Amino acid sequence: MNSYIDIGFHAATSLALGYLVWRIFGINDRRNLLISLFFTFLGGLLIDVDHFLDHFLSFGLNFNYEYFISGEYFMMSNKAYIIFHAVEYVIILGLIYFFLKDQKRKMIFASLALGVLAHLLIDIFLVPNPIKGYFIIYRILNGFNVDMSQGIFE
Ligand SMILES: [Zn+2]
Repeated sequence: MNSYIDIGFHAATSLALGYLVWRIFGINDRRNLLISLFFTFLGGLLIDVDHFLDHFLSFGLNFNYEYFISGEYFMMSNKAYIIFHAVEYVIILGLIYFFLKDQKRKMIFASLALGVLAHLLIDIFLVPNPIKGYFIIYRILNGFNVDMSQGIFE
């Protein structure tokens, strides 16, 4: 049940952000609304596809929905790769945004960056992990190791 609340939060914020970014940029046609929504959903919801890789590394092709939802693979492997979950991406996307001149491209990068940021904030809020674990540089330096007794990340 928790995972549905989780997905609901991500979808609702992606929807709101996509609309908001589109309004702020004032490129007022439906096509650009769809573009903005696509990138907020990409950053805000679809980044969770990286959990499939973590599941695959523990269970191979034996997909188990219950294990997938419960994050059983983190306990099996004691590793957390979740390669699309990283604060650094928000920083990089934000930097690219500031160097762009074209309004449409700026809108795309704003949508994507805000989508990822909202996703990470919701994850941090809903899953009691130390915030440092959401930095991929930290996870790389730790060999992606996790300690379940102290939350997901060491
Ligand atoms: Zn997530």
